[in-house]
Amino acid sequence: MDKPSFYQTHSKFNNNGKPMIYGCCNCLTHLTTTNLVISDRYTGSSGNALLIYKVLNVKVGRSMFRKMTTGDYTVADICCHQCGKVVGWKYLKSSAEDQKFKEGRFILECAYITVVG
Ligand SMILES: [Zn+2]
Repeated sequence: MDKPSFYQTHSKFNNNGKPMIYGCCNCLTHLTTTNLVISDRYTGSSGNALLIYKVLNVKVGRSMFRKMTTGDYTVADICCHQCGKVVGWKYLKSSAEDQKFKEGRFILECAYITVVG
């Protein structure tokens, strides 16, 4: 059996019932919260990754065409606006009709984020 993913290993809410915050693993800048996670069943270049509704405090890079297992996409890398570390990417456009829900959504790679609060 696979070892539990980053997302599976911690609680999604703090003691006050508020969503937990994910930040950049390098400088702890806040990037998103657990209630904005759409799915944890994604894979990035570093391994396990999260599909996320909205990510804050990132710079969106140049758009590029990328072939993935689920189809062809126009994506752009996103990097932490504080330290510049690439933490994932944003889906800009999907060529497949059934993958359009990803447009405007974000991938954060679990290896590059950490729970900050
Ligand atoms: Zn950072």
